Amino acid sequence: MSTTQLDSKSYGQYNAKAYSAGSPTSPLAPTIIARRDPGEQDVRLEILFCGICHSDLHQVRNEWSVMPTVYPCIPGHEIIGRVTHVGSAVTKFKPGDIAAVGCLVDSDGSCPECHAGLEQFCPNMILTYNSPDVHLGGMTYGGYSESIVVKEHFVFSVPSNLDLAGAAPLLCAGITTYSPMRHWGVTKGKKVGVVGLGGLGHMAVKFAHALGAHTVVFTTSPNKKDDALSLGAEEVVLSHDADQMNKHASSFDFILDAVSAEHDVNAYVQLLSRDGNITLVGGVDKPHAVSAFGLLLKRRSISGSVIGSIVETQEMLDFCGKHNIAADVEVIPIQKVNEAYERLLKSNVKYRFSIDMKSLKSS
Ligand code: NAP
Ligand code: ZN
Repeated sequence: MSTTQLDSKSYGQYNAKAYSAGSPTSPLAPTIIARRDPGEQDVRLEILFCGICHSDLHQVRNEWSVMPTVYPCIPGHEIIGRVTHVGSAVTKFKPGDIAAVGCLVDSDGSCPECHAGLEQFCPNMILTYNSPDVHLGGMTYGGYSESIVVKEHFVFSVPSNLDLAGAAPLLCAGITTYSPMRHWGVTKGKKVGVVGLGGLGHMAVKFAHALGAHTVVFTTSPNKKDDALSLGAEEVVLSHDADQMNKHASSFDFILDAVSAEHDVNAYVQLLSRDGNITLVGGVDKPHAVSAFGLLLKRRSISGSVIGSIVETQEMLDFCGKHNIAADVEVIPIQKVNEAYERLLKSNVKYRFSIDMKSLKSS
C-alpha cells in the first residue's frame, strides 16, 4: 500500500538548466527552471540520461485533447540519474547511488487505486511533466533538465549490470509494455503479437521473448524485419500485406498495439483467438472504429493500459537486471533534440533516443 500524501508545504528553490518548448510549433530551446530544495522525503538526482518518448512529442505539440499542454513544457519521463541529496526521512537512497524516475512523481496515497498499489490510476496522480506542481506552483517539469527532486516513493533502484543510456527508456517504454503483458498472462506457450516496432514495440518484443511467448511483430516498415528477428521475434508480418495477415487469423492469445498514429485496429482484432485480447497503449487522439462482430463472435476483448504501478516498475527493472534487458538506444546530445523529434515521426531511430544530459552543461 502506498504511504504517500500530496503535500503542498512551501519549499526553497534553486535554478537548473533545461530544454523547454514555448508553444506547439516552437522548437525546444535552452531555459532555466526552478526546482524545489529537497524536503525530508525527497531525493535530488543529477540527471545522466533521459529517453525521448513519443509521448514527449505528442505533449510538446499539444496533440492530446484529454491532456492539453501548458507552456512552457519541459518533457522527459525516462530518467536515470545520480543521487546528489537526500532528505532526512529517506531510507532507500544515499548520495552517489544511481536511481531512476518514470512518468509519475506523486499520487494522493489515499484513494482506492493508491490503496490497491495502482498509482497510475490515481485520479490525483502528478505526472513528471505537465501536471500541477503542488510545491512551487505552475506545472511540473520533466527530465530534459540538469536535475530533478522527487519523493522517494517514486524513485527506483537501477540494477548495476544495466547500461545507463539503455536503462532510461525502461522507465516508460519498458513498464508500459511489461505491465499489460503481466496483466494478460503472457508466458511460455502463448502466441503474442506486437504492433509497431518503435520505442515501446521493441521493448515489448524483448519482454515477450524473455517471458517465453511465441512472438510475432507487425510492422509497416519492411526494413525492420531483420531487427525484429534479432530482438527476439519468431515471425515478422508486413501489416500492409493482406495475405500475410490472413495467415494468422484467429490465432493470437494477446496482441499489444503500440502504434503512435491512426491505423486500423480491426485488422488485428481478426487475428485474436477465442477470448484473445488486444491492448492498446498508443496515445492516438482520434477514436478508433472497432467492429462489434469482430469482438463478439469469439468473445474477444479490447483494452487499454497506461504505464504501470510503482511496485511493478521496480519489479520490471529487477526483471531487466536479471535478464540483462535494456533498450537499444541512439545516444544524442540535447542540442539534437529537435532533429530527433523529426526522425521519430519518420520511425527513423533504432529504437529509442537517449539524451546524454551532460551535453546540457554546454547549452
Ligand atoms: P515510436 O517510437 O514513434 O513508435 C511508434 C511505431 O508505430 C513506429 O515505429 C511505427 O512502427 C508505428 N507507426 C507509426 N506511424 C504509423 C502509422 N501511421 N501506421 C501504422 N504504424 C505506424 O513511439 P513510442 O515512443 O513507442 O510510443 C508509441 C505510442 O505509445 C505513442 O502514441 C505514445 O504516446 C504512446 N505511449 C503510451 C504510453 C501508455 O502508458 N499507454 C506510454 C508511453 C507511450 P513500424 O515502423 O514498425 O510500423
Ligand atoms: Zn513515455
